[in-house]
Amino acid sequence: MTTHEADIFISGGGIAGQVAAAVFAARGFSVVMADPVAPVTEADLDGSDLRSTAFLRPARALFEACGLWPLLEPHSMPLASLAVIDTTGWPPIVRDRRTFAASDMGTEPFGWNLMNWVVRRELWHYLQDAPGITALYGTGFKSLVQRSGEVIIGLDNRDRVRARLAIAADGKFSPMREAAGIEVSTTRYGQKSLAFTVTHDLPHDNISTEIYNEGGPFTIVPLPDIGGKHASAIVWMNFGPRAVDLMEMAVPAFEEVMFTRSTGLLGWMHLEGRRSIWPIITQTAKQLAEGRVAVVGEAAHALPPIGAQGLNTSLNDIIALVGAAVESPADPGAPAVLKAFEAARKPDIAARARVIDAFNRVARSGEAAVQAVRLAGLKAVHGIAPVRKGVMRAGLGPR
Ligand SMILES: Cc1cc2nc3c(=O)[nH]c(=O)nc-3n(C[C@H](O)[C@H](O)[C@H](O)COP(=O)(O)OP(=O)(O)OC[C@H]3O[C@@H](n4cnc5c(N)ncnc54)[C@H](O)[C@@H]3O)c2cc1C
Repeated sequence: MTTHEADIFISGGGIAGQVAAAVFAARGFSVVMADPVAPVTEADLDGSDLRSTAFLRPARALFEACGLWPLLEPHSMPLASLAVIDTTGWPPIVRDRRTFAASDMGTEPFGWNLMNWVVRRELWHYLQDAPGITALYGTGFKSLVQRSGEVIIGLDNRDRVRARLAIAADGKFSPMREAAGIEVSTTRYGQKSLAFTVTHDLPHDNISTEIYNEGGPFTIVPLPDIGGKHASAIVWMNFGPRAVDLMEMAVPAFEEVMFTRSTGLLGWMHLEGRRSIWPIITQTAKQLAEGRVAVVGEAAHALPPIGAQGLNTSLNDIIALVGAAVESPADPGAPAVLKAFEAARKPDIAARARVIDAFNRVARSGEAAVQAVRLAGLKAVHGIAPVRKGVMRAGLGPR
């Protein structure tokens, strides 16, 4: 049995936990991170994360500040515009198409899209040798003892970690959040999302497109070419039974339905590799801190995948937590640090969860009256320049 000593213990080596480890170490804190499962670093292997993340501008700034961006940028596809297409019926009839251009908000792209399994691979390599970080894979968080000046963590290989601050980044069923006695509120929608990769005939022109129809959006997010072919990541939300049918459908039939659902926007789409399926919920932790435990990432908030908010919101948690911790370098788990963190993040998370929840309810509806509201809302948001820019700024995250 080994006892590790560190400033910070992080439970969970998903993207949120990996980034938190890199960011805290870059600010001079010693970090122990543990995850029972090592990341799957090839797309075709079982368990690989086939989602992609459109990292927004604040995320890129965070990666630059801690030296991660040079590892990630070569695998990213810049996003120049976000298009929203409103459709109705089946086969979908296009009612309106609006484009939100990054150039409205300055000269930079509004985001950079990367496959999650690639991000986890790159961060995993980085964490092996990064100074100040002990990355433990194959063992996870098991128990928590809170003392006034430290936390004592038990790992399931019987090692212990003594730290000033413990960060729960261990996903939506977070065992550390539970051990800290933090409750969650959960909304279920009866929807599921498919996530997979396609190659397609026509170029995506760096435009990320959300196509609305009953069941939720069909979202196309540009990727770097695969085997010399145009490629995109797809997130396709549906009511649960339909999503399960699509998951199990033979590939030729699936490609036909996908082509129809995409309104033929990028020509024929060819499925590359496996499909993955995800339940859609809104879940928020009722507290973001308890004692010396801070909760970040999906442990703090799981949101429907609309508007690239989920992981970007997690990175904003990390920015706020490290920002509070550097004010108290001798004790990053001091009560004042966690109070400042909670005050910085709770209102933003609650507001994002509310807006995405409302948006999802309108977006998935097949009722004509609700669809009319969706169309009118899209026109109003897009048509009035200050409103459009305000929504785009809000989507990028707090400044
Ligand atoms: C279909 C879909 C599409 C999405 N698209 C986007 C997008 O475009 N943009 C965006 O910003 N977000 C998106 N999201 C959200 C985003 O993918 C998630 O928020 C993010 O991947 C969650 O990362 P995480 O590190 O918080 O949690 P996880 O990835 O769940 O990681 C948690 C880790 O904790 C580990 N763990 C579990 N138990 C223990 C334990 N006892 N001890 C230690 N570790 C433990 C697990 O092994 C895991 O590695 C999407 C979500 C979905 C469902």
